[in-house]
Formats: sequence, C-alpha cells, structure tokens
Amino acid sequence: MEENERNGLKFVWNILPNSRTDMTKIIIPLGFHYTPLVKNENIPLLEYEPLRCRNCNSVISPLFPFSVRAKKWECPFCNIQINFPKTYSDFMTEENLPAELLPENSTVEYKLNKKESNFPVFFFLIDTSVEEDELNELKESIQLTINSLPENCKVGIITFGKIVNVIEIGNSEMAISYALNGEKKYDIEEIKELLGLTVRNTNDLNSKNFTNSILVSENKRPKFIMPVGEVSFAINSFLDDLQRDNWHKIPEHREANSVGLAILTAIGILECIARNDPSRILVFLGGPGTVGEGKIVGRELKETIRNFVDFEKGNSNTKYYKNAKNFYDNLSIKLSLNGIILDLFSCCLNQVGLYEMKNLVNNSGGYMIFTDSFSTMIFKDSLKKIFELDENENLKMNFKGKIDFNCTKNFKISGAIGHLHSIETKDQIVSEIVIGEGKTKSWLLGGIDDSSTYTFILDINDENKHYKNLIVQLLTTYIAGDLTTRLRVTTFSQKVIDLNVQNLDLIGNGFDQEAAAVLITRMGIVKNYEGEDSREVLKWIDKILIRLMTKFAKFMKGNPNSFKLSDNFNYFPQFMFYLRRSSFIQYFNESPDENTYYKTLIMYETVSNCTIMIQPLLFEYTPENPQANPVFLDLNSMKNDVVLLLDTFFYVVVWHGIDVVKWREENYQDNPEYENIKMMLEEPQEYAQNIVMERLPTPRFVSCDSGSGQERLIKCIVNPNTDSNNNVRENGFFSDDVNLKVFMDYLKKLAVSS
Ligand SMILES: [Zn+2]
Repeated sequence: MEENERNGLKFVWNILPNSRTDMTKIIIPLGFHYTPLVKNENIPLLEYEPLRCRNCNSVISPLFPFSVRAKKWECPFCNIQINFPKTYSDFMTEENLPAELLPENSTVEYKLNKKESNFPVFFFLIDTSVEEDELNELKESIQLTINSLPENCKVGIITFGKIVNVIEIGNSEMAISYALNGEKKYDIEEIKELLGLTVRNTNDLNSKNFTNSILVSENKRPKFIMPVGEVSFAINSFLDDLQRDNWHKIPEHREANSVGLAILTAIGILECIARNDPSRILVFLGGPGTVGEGKIVGRELKETIRNFVDFEKGNSNTKYYKNAKNFYDNLSIKLSLNGIILDLFSCCLNQVGLYEMKNLVNNSGGYMIFTDSFSTMIFKDSLKKIFELDENENLKMNFKGKIDFNCTKNFKISGAIGHLHSIETKDQIVSEIVIGEGKTKSWLLGGIDDSSTYTFILDINDENKHYKNLIVQLLTTYIAGDLTTRLRVTTFSQKVIDLNVQNLDLIGNGFDQEAAAVLITRMGIVKNYEGEDSREVLKWIDKILIRLMTKFAKFMKGNPNSFKLSDNFNYFPQFMFYLRRSSFIQYFNESPDENTYYKTLIMYETVSNCTIMIQPLLFEYTPENPQANPVFLDLNSMKNDVVLLLDTFFYVVVWHGIDVVKWREENYQDNPEYENIKMMLEEPQEYAQNIVMERLPTPRFVSCDSGSGQERLIKCIVNPNTDSNNNVRENGFFSDDVNLKVFMDYLKKLAVSS
C-alpha cells in the first residue's frame, strides 16, 4: 500500500471483485485517486524515449511480462509481443536492467525528446470597475508578478469596465489600446478581425461568415503579447497610469463590468498569436459581470445578486443564470481544447459569479482564489505562490496536461472526476456506464501541479474472465516549467478475486475509508452539478452508508449492541456524518460563490487534504501538554484551560479558552516558571503559520478568544451538544443536525435490522 501512495495512488478497494454482480454487492464503486505529480524524489527522470507498444502506445513497465533471453516484452493490454531494440538487447542482463524495468520503478518520468516549448504567455485581465485603492493594490501585485517573471516569458494586458481595452504594449513608448464595447455581443472571429489579427478572404466582407479568415502575418499585426524583458518598462508605466473606469458611473447602479467579453477576447487573441504556446489567463475580478454576455446581475442596485434562496423561490434575479452559465461553459471548452489555463481571483466582499464561471477553472486546471479584497494576504500570497521559481529560476507551473488511461480487458473505465475534460474516444475498455467525465480513456487537464488529484472509476467487463488480476497504466504528459515535455508513467496491478470461492471479508480488508469518503464526496458533487438537489444527494449518501454497514459490520440480527466495525471501516460513518453537514452537500448561510469555491477545491486537492476538508482537524494544547494533541471535533473540547487549533483547509483558527486569555493578559508567558504557558501560546501560532505559508490558495488565518465573534468559526464545525433529538428519523434516513452519537446509534439500529 505504501508503494501505491508513493506513486500518488489511493484505492477505495485494494482487492477487487471479478464480476459486475459482485461489484454491486460491495456498494461503493471501484474508484481510485491519482496524484500524477506527487512529490517523490525517488521517481527516476529518464532522458530518453520510452519503449511503446506499437498498437496501443502503452509504455513498457516492470509489471509487463518480459524476457531478457528471448529479447521480447509483452503488452498486457493488446497481448502482443514486441522485440527489444538492439540498444536494449545488446546490453541487458537479468542483473543489469534498464531503470524502467526495475521492480521498484512502477512510476517513472521521461523527458521526451521534443523541441522545447516556447516560453509561456501570461494574459492579465484587470477589472477597472473597482474602487481606486483596490485598483492600486491590484496594480502593485501585478507589477510585482511581472517584474519577477523570467524575461523571456510573454505578457499581455486587457482591462475591462464598461469597455474592454486590449493594450498593445509592444508598439512604442506609448501603449495603444483597442476598445471593444462591453454591451455588445461579439463573435470570437469578429473580435480577431476587429483587433487586426485576421482578415477575411475574398468577397464576403459583408456576410457574417468568418470561415475564410486568414491570420495576418506576424510583423503586420498588433503586438498584444510581448516578451516581458522587452516591454517591462512600458508595462510598468502603463500600470502606473492606469485609472479606474470613472466614466460610466450611474447613481444607484453597480459599476459596468464586462468580464465575459474580456475573457472571450483573451481567448481569441491567444488562438491567433500563441496557439501552441503554454498560456495562462489571469482574471482579477473585483465585482460581478454586469454588462454584455456573461453578466450575472443587472446594474440596478435594487436588484440583488442571486442567492440559493432566489433559486428555490424562482425569483427574477436568477434570470441571468442560464445564459451566463452557458456562455462560460462554452468558453471553458475552448480553454480546455486550446490548453489554456484560466485562474479566477475573486477579490470582493460581494459575489462575483464564481457559481456561473466555475468551469473556466475546473476545465482548464486553473486556480480559484476567493477573498474580500486585493489588499488581503490571501490574494497577495496566493499570486506569489503561483509564480514561484525553482532553484534553476524556472517557473514551478506546468502546462497542457493530458492523461491517457489503459487497462487489461477484464475491466473498463466509467469516467474520471476532478479538474479535467473528457476527449471522447471509443474503445473496448470505455464503459457505457458514465460517471463524471466519461465516454473516454483520455482527458485534457490543462494546468497540473503536485496537488492535482483525479478520481477514476472502474467498471468490470463480464466477458473477459481469464485474467488473474487487473493491470492499469496511466500516462500523463505535460510541459514542465523548464519548457521540456514530460511523460509520467504509472503502472499498477490490483488483485482480483472470485466471490464464489472467496469470502467477502477479503475484499473488506482492502477497504480504504479515506479514499472512499473522498470518492463519495466527489460523486455527490457531480450529482449536484448534474441537477440533483442536496436532499437527493443526502439520501444517496445515507443509502450507501447503511448498506455498506449491513454488508461489512459484524452483528447479531436485531441487536444494535452487538454491532462492531473492523478498524478499516471504523471512521467511515464519522466521515459521512461530517460530510452530510458540510458545504459539499449542503449550504446553510453560504452564498453560491462561497459554496462553489469549497467544491472547486475538494475536486482538485490530494486525498489527505480532501479528508481534512470533510472532517477538519482539531488540536488541543494544555499546560500539562503544550504540544499539539488531536481531540474530538466536539463542543466539549472547547475547555477553559486549553488552546485549540482548528484546520478546515480553507481556514485555520487558533482559539484560546477563557482561563488562557486571563493567563495571557497577566503575562504568564513572560515568567520563566511558566515556560509551558508560553509554549501552549506559541506552538499553535507557529503551526498555523507553517500551514498558511505552504498552502495554495493561502488559507484564512484567525486567532481568537473565547466569547469573541470569530469563535463561531469553530462552533459551526464541531459536533452539536444536543443529546436528545427526536427528529432523527425521516422515512428511514437521517434528519439534519443530529449529533454524532445519535447518528451512530441510529445507524447501528438500521444496519442490524435490515
Ligand atoms: Zn498494446
């Protein structure tokens, strides 16, 4: 199992059944999570081309059958034999195998012998409809970013308020801007022509037909995108002079904001100028889109921005939703197909439309940053982390990711969940049962980093029974920060058993409850995105939990006291308890944007970080034991003489009990006799700072005292303290807001009675 984790793999079931009937018996789908670029220094980097199967393109691995003597290897997916080339067979012996055949190298990375990619393009889309001090903060952060870029990287700037201005930064000393009217609807081809990037052929200048458009040659078209080394002075002075959009103010109205057109324009320009280059669009939003396509609210202030309650009631302010969602979804497919990454920085006290725009990020592998203002550390630090350089002064970011899946013919692939986009492909191993992004064995990822984690869901092919086990190969290609093209190859095999001759417990022993909790969460979110409301998703979770317990717990029928779970199932009900109350399934006092932000992150992070999101971590520091000590997420943990640290992944809260506040105010920490008090005050602060520095997006950090307003951040997470609850039962499912004990008691009762 450890080897799997080193390879970035985590399976819900480490032992698999061999028929579809048996697959339904174990209730939770055959999913696994994969973090292709997992941090592991032992993964060898091979600077030569891989040996591939000529038929299916799979890459040789130590799990494939091979013979040194016969000088052949076999592709387990096509069952064809392939001769080793002479460069291998002349030197290879049993004792001297090439790195990619050593048993410990089930994951290797190749640096492919391709021409180095061009330097990446960064397109900065700046919202000028914000307040002046906000714009100044934003300008400063963008200048810092641009000035820190390796000088061959290319940059472009678009500003948007009521008007979208595309800035020609490479022209001369003075930047020239090309204006597009934010209130007008443009076709992307029309924009290319208006900007002088394409011209229409022949005589159909009057028709709306752009199919004959041709690209203007490089020396004749405007210089919207230039190497930063050549234009850094021009950009810095342009930004210094950039003013907020003051011209279109109307009393009692929102600012005019045409973010939709700005993004469409950026994509159009990149399609013309940087079609094959790695590229990234950074959208800095200080308010919602209010004009043109993609607007999520009208300008009149008396119309509020849609909230969940408006959708429930069918209020008129939800009328923009469908069009905006469609508009951004279409753009997100364009991004994905072009391999362009898009990051959304939502820096506003109000909503900006993440709910409508989320697929721009989800399909392109970008980052979503969610905070109140461009002046927050969450914004500034997150932006800094995205543009971090490695020890060779290369950007740490990767571009144009793609995953190809292959497996032995006893299994199929139902789909994948995460920040990826299906390239529909037909194949024998592609299942007709679709979960998430399906109908394919290849997905476009766009941006990918060492946290990007994708969930794959397997299906069983009942027609191919003669295989002993399952072999899967995942091929991830991407352009690394050093501009080389990489191929990460992970191959694994899974044990498959026949439940007609083997015991179900054998499969149960291979259950991974964390992997399962994350799978259920992600599947639940997909169900929600596909239109099921949270009540339906809750019922689906309850059904899975109860049936799983009935199958794998030990008990005497009808006797809840006899109910027992083995260690590897023990925490699963708790995970489901916290999941049911979380933002991933429900929304209580959240806006659609906030809710979208949480869901976006759990669809992207590693399994261990997703587990923290589902069931946050709570640590206690006491005078007796001033080191971090894990405690229950329970109201009873909020004692007077302790310091608590809560980590929900999105925010980190340090909380001081009432006695501790007193000690601190009386300066116990300065008295050498109370070294322990000093420690219990300092340890959690240090721990929190480390988390804040490491994570992207930067989490919110709060240090508060008992009785303060901010303590609700802890109170809303911990288990409620109400022991008696009569509403536990609702048609055989759980009602909201029971506490963990009541939940467990009722679960046992249901499990033993069925
Ligand atoms: Zn093959």
